[in-house]
Amino acid sequence: MKVLLVFAHPESRSLNGALRDVAIQELEAQGHAVCVSDLYASRWKSEVDRADFPLLAPDARLKPAAASGAAFAANALTEDVKAEQEKLLWADALILQFPLWWFTMPAILKGWVDRVYAYGFAYGVGEHSEKRWGDRYGEGAMAGKRAMVLVTTGGWEEHYSARGINGPIDDLLFPINHGILFYPGFDVLPPFVVYRADHLNDAAFGLVAERLRDRMRKLATATPIPYRRQNGGDYLIPSMQLRPELGDPGATSFALHRNGAATGDPASRPKGR
Ligand code: FAD
Repeated sequence: MKVLLVFAHPESRSLNGALRDVAIQELEAQGHAVCVSDLYASRWKSEVDRADFPLLAPDARLKPAAASGAAFAANALTEDVKAEQEKLLWADALILQFPLWWFTMPAILKGWVDRVYAYGFAYGVGEHSEKRWGDRYGEGAMAGKRAMVLVTTGGWEEHYSARGINGPIDDLLFPINHGILFYPGFDVLPPFVVYRADHLNDAAFGLVAERLRDRMRKLATATPIPYRRQNGGDYLIPSMQLRPELGDPGATSFALHRNGAATGDPASRPKGR
């Protein structure tokens, strides 16, 4: 496989840097080709602004989505963005690696998504009508590719458990896993999370590294999170609500968008089954 690892930590000698090296070493040992986008090292420009759209007239009002769509259609996005899009098209698998900062990805990585995921490339893809709301959530330019998050946290695993004060890690990562990765079509693998990262000693690092090597060995075969596909029949169109017969009727949580029937979760099966 061809693997793109997008690395978002300002220090190469960090724990994240060490884990990145472990992941690359294992992937290459398995015969995979690895390409790394090191966002801090390349001084990635994270903000969307006029400079992203060279064709936009100086006096024209900037409408980011429209400008993005026009630039993508005209092959006039900036070279740094086009290079990242090429890497995404090249890759069979994407790894987003970052330390959890304020319960989400560092701003530089969000800025990579904001700029690289152009209109027409990652959103605004496919037919948009009363019958079909585009190719997204399981379909799109990234369909057939795999993706996963590799994240370190200061907080303990218990803090991110179902009743933990930070909220469950799967909920915190939902906007990334479902909103950023599943949306343009990736099959999303369960995240690799290193908890309590600030207090890792050498022995614990060895265990984490071994767990990571194991995950890298299974990159091509691990079972993706069973998110429901937008155009798979589970949602009403155009309201985009989960069909009333699916899921736990009282539930409002992110978990509704996983196909529990695929995992044996009775709460997510159609009523009466
Ligand atoms: P480093 O500081 O580089 O390393 C951590 C420890 O790992 C080191 O002390 C060392 O003992 C060990 N280590 C490093 N490299 C090796 C190696 N090669 N071999 C053996 N041991 C090694 N945490 C949360 O849980 N939730 C948040 O919302 C959150 N927000 C944050 C916001 C900001 C702005 C910042 C700065 C931190 C935040 N944190 C949060 C904490 C953050 O997630 C952790 O500090 C981070 O994940 C640690 O990863 P690192 O790569 O920076 O670790």
